[in-house]
Amino acid sequence: MTKEELWQAVLADIQFHISRANFTTWLANTEIISKQDKCILVSVPNSFSKEWLENKYNKLILKALYNINNDIKEVKYEVKPCALKTLDHLASTDLPKPKLEQLNFQEFKINKKTNLNPRYTFDNFVIGSFNELAQAAAWAVSKKPGLVYNPLFIYGNVGLGKTHLLQAIGNKIIEKSASKNVLYIPAEKFTSEVVSSIRNGTIESLKAKFRQTDVLILDDAQFLAGKEKTQEEFFHTFNSLYEKNKQIILSSDRSPKAIPALEERLRSRFEGGMIADISAPDYETRLAILKTKGQEKKIDLSNETLEYIASNVQKNIREMEGALNSLAAYQKLNNEQLDAKIARKLLKNLISSPPKIVSPKIIIQMVAEFFDLKERDLITPSRKKEIVRPRQIAMYLLRNELKSSFPFIGRKFSGKDHTTAIYACTKIKKEIENSEKFTDEINLIKQRIYSQSC
Ligand code: ADP
Ligand code: MG
Repeated sequence: MTKEELWQAVLADIQFHISRANFTTWLANTEIISKQDKCILVSVPNSFSKEWLENKYNKLILKALYNINNDIKEVKYEVKPCALKTLDHLASTDLPKPKLEQLNFQEFKINKKTNLNPRYTFDNFVIGSFNELAQAAAWAVSKKPGLVYNPLFIYGNVGLGKTHLLQAIGNKIIEKSASKNVLYIPAEKFTSEVVSSIRNGTIESLKAKFRQTDVLILDDAQFLAGKEKTQEEFFHTFNSLYEKNKQIILSSDRSPKAIPALEERLRSRFEGGMIADISAPDYETRLAILKTKGQEKKIDLSNETLEYIASNVQKNIREMEGALNSLAAYQKLNNEQLDAKIARKLLKNLISSPPKIVSPKIIIQMVAEFFDLKERDLITPSRKKEIVRPRQIAMYLLRNELKSSFPFIGRKFSGKDHTTAIYACTKIKKEIENSEKFTDEINLIKQRIYSQSC
């Protein structure tokens, strides 16, 4: 196994454990420089990436390495600015393709106009009783956008195919009529576009962009919760499209009723069309999905191994795909046909790790770490300036990320009054609206929180 192959396999594994945005930011421009005994040296484009990889992703990288080659005990990073390939380059035709076929960089071939990823289609979407209603509704909408179910609202837990289905509708529509103006946007991106266009005074052109669409697809609408300005903007966009019989498609991890801090008028719009849920797939469907994915990626695993994955990774199709990729990488690199025993060993971590979620503890811990304080400092009643501000940020994040109540937040910080929590949240929120630099800082903290938790 060459060092390049080893690193490609590690990346293939890691892409399934972190978000695409994080993957592109932190790992797309990395390469192995050398491999000696128990240590590998990886080149990174700048010192910022070096710090992030060392502090945040080292464990994940080591774990991925360990799955493939358990001799390696240490990874070091070296800044080497030039001569690195980006994944875009890898995906382009005139450069050598990655050696491992299962590395599927289609992830990165996103249509610039529509934001759609061509890999999500109806053809590779497996149907079972858990998703047939959502699939049928999505299919109907793709045949007659704007005319059957408007809006179409699909909800279900993470990793069960919502994004796949939403994008399949978009891809089908442009396949039939390329002139249709389809736009896919995750709600978080919508929010940040609204915020920055307000700041830059370009809100009119943003309004025009969304209102020109024939099909607007908003993914993960639960992220609109609590964001009043964004909700207002979306409400008007929604009405404008709806009146013109343009199709609106939404997804969320919960039903419209269960989204907290969502304006009533928006909730009733979301409920005004067709609502379909996706639940967890049954064993047969899980196996069928694994087989489809295996064919797509030209992965050749034995039935026994596929059955092992299908019976052990039950609740999340994305994780199941991650397991498939890890095993395939191992098999390819070790030239060894896998049996269920090796599979069990390799997937031990994936299967036994309980679902991690963001908790107040993680938020407080990450804020303290970010400002180089002790958790205890944040929680005690100190009024020192260098503590008050991080504490206010932690309160704001508890409110914003976990929707904690103000009395709860007060109690978390040595029984402060709920008005202190309200004051802190309002203050930080205002500062975020007024300072781009501060917004970036908060985003960095959030990134740390989520990379800890997922
Ligand atoms: P969600 O948006 O609900 O979190 P995704 O749409 O991102 O989930 O799905 C996670 C992964 O599982 C994707 O790679 C997707 O292609 C795959 N997937 C989900 N459902 C199916 C299905 N029914 N058939 C085939 N692949 C699926
Ligand atoms: Mg999704």
